[in-house]
Amino acid sequence: MFIPAIKHTLQGALSVAVLMVSSASFVQAADEKRNVILIIGDGMDDQQITIARNYLKGANGRLLLDAMALRSTSHILTVEDAVSSSPVYVADSANSATSMATGQITSIGRIATSAGEDKDIITIAELAKAAGFSTGVVSSASVTDATPASFIAHVISRDCENPTRMSVAGDNPSWVNAELCKTDRVDNGGAGSIAQQIALGSTDVVLGGGMKHFQPRGADSDKTLLKMAQDNGYQLVTNAAELMSNKSSGKLLGLFSEHTMPTRLRGEDGRIAERPLPSLLYNISSDLGSVVLPESMRCEENPDYAGMTSIKQMTDAAIKHLSTKADRGFFLMVESASIDKASHKRNACGSIGELAQLEEALASAQKFAADHPNTLILVTADHGQAAQLIPNPKAGQAFYTPGHIARITTPEGQIMAINYATTEAHSEKHTGTNVPLFANIEGQGRVPSMVTQPEIFNIMSAYLGLIP
Ligand code: MG
Ligand code: ZN
Repeated sequence: MFIPAIKHTLQGALSVAVLMVSSASFVQAADEKRNVILIIGDGMDDQQITIARNYLKGANGRLLLDAMALRSTSHILTVEDAVSSSPVYVADSANSATSMATGQITSIGRIATSAGEDKDIITIAELAKAAGFSTGVVSSASVTDATPASFIAHVISRDCENPTRMSVAGDNPSWVNAELCKTDRVDNGGAGSIAQQIALGSTDVVLGGGMKHFQPRGADSDKTLLKMAQDNGYQLVTNAAELMSNKSSGKLLGLFSEHTMPTRLRGEDGRIAERPLPSLLYNISSDLGSVVLPESMRCEENPDYAGMTSIKQMTDAAIKHLSTKADRGFFLMVESASIDKASHKRNACGSIGELAQLEEALASAQKFAADHPNTLILVTADHGQAAQLIPNPKAGQAFYTPGHIARITTPEGQIMAINYATTEAHSEKHTGTNVPLFANIEGQGRVPSMVTQPEIFNIMSAYLGLIP
């Protein structure tokens, strides 16, 4: 299907959307509400799901995911920016979320913009909004992070999160490439940073972390982005109590942490995976090839998570808000972000706790769908991650494994060995595997046994009647 790509002329894109929707009215009766809830587990490949199932439910247990009506697989596609005909086999969260949000394949790091040409690509949230649906994003990352941003903003790079990050003179982390952001700067005729686009945008519900990205002053403005958002009609909430008691029917912005929200679980005493030590080097009396393994550990509550708003609470609030105000229904994207972020840090328990949170959000979505049958629930991942479930090396038969290993004692009393070995550097890498795609009963007949990631956009758009 053809989706128009219009750089910095969203109004133009929206009028195209309205045209598309008017012809779509033949597909969907005007009085029939339809909803799509897309739940993305960042980095949630089958290794992560299996590890979490073993810990949370036991080897013979079942996650809610496992009981969904339909299970497909999603093939991830990304390309070189300079040569968009050249495939790249491992993706990041920006290009992969852009695929799901727009139906277009783009290059790594891009937020709803096209590879090479840097055109804005209209997203499903924008199409749905223009067609009279309510829209929302929920994330346990900053709301400006790549996954949520790809549904509600357009920039050349995921680094362009706030006005400071777009300034070469800004006090920025070393990994930020502010120079790259210059085409999106307001003084160059762009729409500004991701945070500024959210603050000035029309998404009905935006909930997650990332308060720090709204504290700088807006580009060409005396006001902070937070104030700009409030002047644009957003009610601000900053903790779970405010979120739950909120009765406003206007636009809602919830920022519950400075940046990424902490994970619910962590390794015992904050431990993460550690490097096994070859005994030859450290214990002269041991056999060649035997190793000193990291001590096993349990997962424990992360003290930093205390008082944090859960993904379930954000999902419940978003569904309640969107379903009561919707005219035609709603589109909601919910992200469990730190399956990936914890895996980058070799924090297996962090990933497990984040997947437990995804399950709770799924339960909320399923509860709503039980009362509102015209609700398509899709659950998927954006890309694979580093963690691998490997045999637990036993004393006397231990083998050396490259990389780092976490030996988690499960509630079943067994040891689950999780290996991270994509790099010796600070942060583990994504992997290029297919990822699962689950759907509720509404997916039957709509979700084939294998999709490319951009086809997820087509499935959602068709369900909402956004495709002529
Ligand atoms: Mg993400
Ligand atoms: Zn990642």
